[in-house]
Amino acid sequence: MTLRPAVFIDRDGTLTDEVGYVNHPARLSLIPRAAEAIRRLNAAGVAAVVVTNQAGIARGYFSEDVLGKVHDALHAQLASAGARLDGLYACIHHPTEGRPPYRAACECRKPKPGLLRRAAEELGLDLARSVMVGDKASDLVPARAVGAAAVLVLTGYGLGEWEYRRAHFDVQPDHVARDLLDAVEWALARRSLA
Ligand SMILES: [Mg+2]
Ligand SMILES: [Zn+2]
Repeated sequence: MTLRPAVFIDRDGTLTDEVGYVNHPARLSLIPRAAEAIRRLNAAGVAAVVVTNQAGIARGYFSEDVLGKVHDALHAQLASAGARLDGLYACIHHPTEGRPPYRAACECRKPKPGLLRRAAEELGLDLARSVMVGDKASDLVPARAVGAAAVLVLTGYGLGEWEYRRAHFDVQPDHVARDLLDAVEWALARRSLA
């Protein structure tokens, strides 16, 4: 199987509005131009893969069933805009909150790279030719860990992260983008995705 490149996309603050815990599908809304960004990836044959920390499950704020409903809504909102995700991976753990099995020192909670590695294995992705896009410094770390490019968007927490915290970033972004669409345009212009 030929490995293909991916753009890994954080969910809250990058693809959808950062509103705190999304404990009901009604709280989920796409950021403007985000569906267009996914459509561009679909058209280019680049895998669009969401990787998201959802520790609200470990904390007992909402159930896996509710997370499933939220993600059904995400797929439906994207589909109605002609866009489709190739994968959606969530870490539902927290290292110190809640009870096992959700309270766990897992390998998938960002900044760890487990979700990216799992997606690469299951979907046949070439991590070295891939890009990870997120609105927090903790989204940049897993990108660097797997040899992918790291892009910070200024939506969600991104503007504050970039303006006030960048001196403390463990990993500096390879690019700073206004939003997901700008990030995808940058990614598609890189020769590695061609
Ligand atoms: Mg985020
Ligand atoms: Zn996890």
